[in-house]
Amino acid sequence: MTENSVFESPIVGRQLFGPGPCNPYPEAHLALSLPLLGHLDPAFIDVMDATSEMLRQVWGTQNQRTLPLSATGSAGMEAAFVNTVRPGDVVVVAVNGLFGERMVEVAGRHGAEVIPVEHEYGRPVDVERVVTAHPNPKIIAAVHAETSTGVVSDIQELGQNKGDALLLADCVTSIGGIEINLDAWGVDLAYAGSQKCLGVAPGLAPFTISDRAFERRVEKPANWYLDLNLLGGYATGSTGGQRTYHHTAPTGMVVSLKAGLERILAEGLESVYARHAAAGQTLQDGLEAMGLTLFAEEGARLAQLTTVNVPEGVDSSAVRNFLMSKYNLEIGAGTGAYASKIWRIGLMGHNATEANAHLLLAALKDALDHA
Ligand SMILES: *Cc1c(COP(=O)(O)O)cnc(C)c1O
Repeated sequence: MTENSVFESPIVGRQLFGPGPCNPYPEAHLALSLPLLGHLDPAFIDVMDATSEMLRQVWGTQNQRTLPLSATGSAGMEAAFVNTVRPGDVVVVAVNGLFGERMVEVAGRHGAEVIPVEHEYGRPVDVERVVTAHPNPKIIAAVHAETSTGVVSDIQELGQNKGDALLLADCVTSIGGIEINLDAWGVDLAYAGSQKCLGVAPGLAPFTISDRAFERRVEKPANWYLDLNLLGGYATGSTGGQRTYHHTAPTGMVVSLKAGLERILAEGLESVYARHAAAGQTLQDGLEAMGLTLFAEEGARLAQLTTVNVPEGVDSSAVRNFLMSKYNLEIGAGTGAYASKIWRIGLMGHNATEANAHLLLAALKDALDHA
């Protein structure tokens, strides 16, 4: 047990280069220390409206029903399924990593007839196999950026071939890191998380649903907290009248999310994406130059989350512990069967810089020299 105050190392100075959370943007961080607002304060309602509007910009959508849910990314997944799935509805899920597997689990709990389309880990989604898995599914679901494997999939191509199905995209690790254009791509439902490339602390799940999907929703979903009918009146003013109390919004977190989004839009989406791409490329080139091999298939690698194979004979957790104790720096292990086989290195949000890529390369080289 540490006897240090929370204002001392290791808490101060920790560098978060795992699969999320990352170190927040300074603006998002500072906003957490502002005086708190009440959840029905008109000033907070303005913050909520502005936040939803900025989320629309980052997501490339006009969806009126766009809001940050008061929970983490997984609640966005839960909300997507509980509001759309009736028992027996067919849901095709592209599974190419842990989060696709989680979608299978969640959709199944709501009574869906789930058709998982399994892929080898490290590979992007095979659109052809997914869209031909069933002639007329209610929902096709896929993960845009698979954080468990470091792979990006082509959501646009899925949208072009979805037929009458609703397309659901997990955008937790893609939002704020790589281009997303939900409306142009034909995505009907999407959710995200605050703590990855948006560069805000964990605790909010941006969520959006098209009119088309909203018309096909479950009228009275089996989950009160995530019921979009109730949330709609509260967060988006869709009732046209007074905001009503549904739950106490985490107002401090929403203010922080707004500050993070302001920062991203002030920098400009194109340059934010270019910064992530350059940082990831520098890291991946450097890892290969050190003789390490990357896990994700070439051509489908995420810049914001790099997966690297642990070399033969190297103890993966010893390396991670070394990085933490000597450099106060966190990287991630793999998940499931890959727990000790790969490392997952995030350069997300504020952390997505070439300088951080060089720091990681130097620290990892030191760790491997001592392994
Ligand atoms: C992190 C993550 C989630 C889950 O989000 P939590 O905030 O941990 O609940 C879902 N999908 C993907 C792709 C993620 O990276």
